Amino acid sequence: MRKASHSSTRTHNSRLVLKTIYDGGPISRADLSRATDLTAPTVSDVVSDLMEQGLVEEVGYGPSTGGKPPILLSVVDDSRHLIGLDLARGDFRGAVINLRGEIRHRVDLSLGDRSRDAALALTYELVDALVEGTDSPLLGIGIGAPGLVDAVNGVVQRAVNVDWRDVPLRDLLQGRYGLPVYVANDCQVAALAEYTFGNNEDVRDLVVVNVGYGVGAGIILNGRLLHGNPSGAGEIGHVVVEPGGERCQCGNYGCLETVTSSRAIIRRARAIAQSDSQSQLHQFSPSPETITLETIYQALHAGDESVQQMIYEVGRSLGIAAANLVGVLGSCRILFAGSVTCFGQFLLNAVQEEMMQRAFSPLAENTEVGLASLGSDIVLIGASALLLPQELGLF
Ligand SMILES: [Zn+2]
Repeated sequence: MRKASHSSTRTHNSRLVLKTIYDGGPISRADLSRATDLTAPTVSDVVSDLMEQGLVEEVGYGPSTGGKPPILLSVVDDSRHLIGLDLARGDFRGAVINLRGEIRHRVDLSLGDRSRDAALALTYELVDALVEGTDSPLLGIGIGAPGLVDAVNGVVQRAVNVDWRDVPLRDLLQGRYGLPVYVANDCQVAALAEYTFGNNEDVRDLVVVNVGYGVGAGIILNGRLLHGNPSGAGEIGHVVVEPGGERCQCGNYGCLETVTSSRAIIRRARAIAQSDSQSQLHQFSPSPETITLETIYQALHAGDESVQQMIYEVGRSLGIAAANLVGVLGSCRILFAGSVTCFGQFLLNAVQEEMMQRAFSPLAENTEVGLASLGSDIVLIGASALLLPQELGLF
């Protein structure tokens, strides 16, 4: 019993010192002792241990305060690597990522029409290639998967794109690679990415709304990712915003996804091009079938009124979702991520306007609406960030 508590104190101290160096380094042993309230001999012991493990290194001297100048310590950012997977796209993407969220090596594999076991085999192929792509010790594998994910048990309950139902992804990968594995919903890990590695040090509550092929939100509350019980927190894409609207993959009509996803926007732009021979879309796309988000962006900025109206409606629907989030969470920071954010400030203005009209104004006025800072790698990076609190005590 005494041994167990001694070892848990050691782990606690070690994590505290590592986190303090990670957040505040380069830092001297004396400053570490002050910041952590640990005695100088304890700090010295723990630091030796962390240096032996290769996690921490001496990086030079700080300014002298009279006596010998203090030696400064930093975390070795590439002393451990993380594997992050994004399984929510048309391609399966993976990366080897360091302790600061920097991508060191990446692998993309085309999913094609693979589903079920074939999609699982592709996941193994992806991880095999990533494991070979690093010489640093691996902390584990983090996965952003689409659909409903039971993060506690690491089970993908339902992912439409690969036709997975109740796939125990964590146990399968842990068994195969002997590494810790964490699985969460892709939009949820996008929020974790912004919280961990974006410019959001000043907030504890954060929402990231991912608007791409699908639509969903990730919610960070008091510095912790909200998963739902056991899943589904932030699953706003299947809330109806247009009663009687277009049929959604989920079987309902007029879901947020049917208005605001990249698929929906492209479908609506094609309809505009087909019905209006004067549309600016024709300038940028030889036929309605070749219209992409990029083409739509060009027509928007060339002043096509139908396209502007359509994107304005997309923003308004997202504004309804934002107002509901404010109603539940109170004032917060809401960041938009995903391919649809190519419409930038034009889209955000519509979101903001609608949110202000629909949410309780004292709360809406103190809510910030903006764009996420991490680009298309946001899910990869967030997936890897699942490992840091559990495996190293960071964040
Ligand atoms: Zn739906």
